[in-house]
Amino acid sequence: MDAVATGTSGTGSDRGPAGKGSTAEIISHEPATGSEIWRGKVSDIDEAVKRARRAWPAWAAQPLSTRMELLRRFANEVRKDAEKLATTIARETGKPMWEARAEVDNVIAKVEISIRAFAERTAQRKLDSAMQGTLAVRHKPHGVLAVLGPFNMPAHLPNTHIVPALIAGNAVVFKPSEKAPATGEMLARCFNRAGISAAVMQFVAGGPAEGQALVAHEDIDGVLFTGSANTGITINRRLATRPDKVCALEMGGNNPLVVWDTPKITDAAALVVQSAFTSTGQRCTAARRLIVKSSLYDAVVHEVKALADRLIFGAPFDEPAPFMGPVIDNAAADGLTESFVYLLSHGGKAIKHLVRPDDALPFLSPAIIDTTAMKDRPDVELFGPILQVIRVDDLDEAIAEANNTRFGLVASLVGGSPQDYNRFWANVRAGIVNWNRPTVGPAHSAPMGGIGLSGNHRPTGYYAADYCAYPVTSGEMEQPRAVIGVGLR
Ligand code: NAD
Repeated sequence: MDAVATGTSGTGSDRGPAGKGSTAEIISHEPATGSEIWRGKVSDIDEAVKRARRAWPAWAAQPLSTRMELLRRFANEVRKDAEKLATTIARETGKPMWEARAEVDNVIAKVEISIRAFAERTAQRKLDSAMQGTLAVRHKPHGVLAVLGPFNMPAHLPNTHIVPALIAGNAVVFKPSEKAPATGEMLARCFNRAGISAAVMQFVAGGPAEGQALVAHEDIDGVLFTGSANTGITINRRLATRPDKVCALEMGGNNPLVVWDTPKITDAAALVVQSAFTSTGQRCTAARRLIVKSSLYDAVVHEVKALADRLIFGAPFDEPAPFMGPVIDNAAADGLTESFVYLLSHGGKAIKHLVRPDDALPFLSPAIIDTTAMKDRPDVELFGPILQVIRVDDLDEAIAEANNTRFGLVASLVGGSPQDYNRFWANVRAGIVNWNRPTVGPAHSAPMGGIGLSGNHRPTGYYAADYCAYPVTSGEMEQPRAVIGVGLR
């Protein structure tokens, strides 16, 4: 297994920039059926950036209230098209319809949250300064920002960058994942129908090469990225000599969930299953490692397995509704299967096997494997429904095991006393630390980001406003008033 970064997702490819006027096509397939859902020409990135650059000054010059109003209209456009957008997300990613609807709700909610966050995080302030002058702190937009989206929440996650970027007065060139262009295009159309022009909020189609072309483009002022650590590192490397460009990287995790003393084993098991298998494990915040106290091991593992055995996995529109759909494509299913076999052949003990009922489609069952005895557990993000179980004897060992990763996105403690949680909170390294809550489903009214290989200290969520504008401090007086008080002949 790749021991550098994320195991099954992330091409991180470093191919040459997309050729101008390229005629190559992007084709998106439905994971649950294999049928084609979208096809389109790869965009001309240089042309798209030039268009955005021309449109940006007028957008930045609009009053803030106008931009906010247009974003509220965007939310209304999404509301009108909610069922259509949810259906497209469900078809294109394979996630169940109930989950796709929840994603659309998040897209809508993002607007009011971002308006509040903009006012709170990047408000204008005036302070008194010397000689009855004023010291003003105001924020300016960066210019033209590239937003690169992942496939797993193809509407909500790019939107968490796009909405705050537009409110702040930036123009956006948005490249969704090549695995979810249909959703990306539909989202972009909602902005455009709301009255935000297709030059200010621009959809481009493309894959890694087009992403790379955007990152390398002189006229891009910054890159707002959500995706795998491999790709994030490639982007970071590319921008290492460009401190003038803002770069926000939201990446993956190898997230621990620790189960400690609790009489509520059934609830603990439900939290574990929710954390590990929601979205078929295709969440950056999914629990990958269940770290459990030895004395609770049998009871907890028994309950988790029993619940996982009951999970329905199926197609997005199946009745009764499935808990989880397929993974994104056959390549991902192949990679996860190989990873599971690797763990098995290197000391892992299967508690629940990874089953793929049809080799032609990427449906996978939830899988659980005890890797306590593995000497060198690969520190990779297995972006799918595989949960590793590790048995420990005391809380120090549990915390050390939780920190045994270069990632640092989320960590949860389930059970334990307030003192145990205090110790956990103080010593575990992650951007989100929870107690008796699942690792998935971060609050939108709070910052969302990780440390280590999970991010570059520019959390998104409520703090996205911070990287969408820069502060300008101005000392201001209505008239020039000055004398040289010392050192004159
Ligand atoms: P990915 O890294 O493969 O792709 C993300 C985007 O980057 C796509 O638009 C892709 O075309 C583009 N890209 C790929 N190579 C590039 C390059 N060399 N230069 C520029 N752009 C490039 O990620 P994915 O597989 O679509 O998404 C899953 C990953 O995203 C997982 O690792 C998951 O943990 C992570 N993720 C993180 C968060 C978070 O908020 N931290 C949220 C969701 C997903």
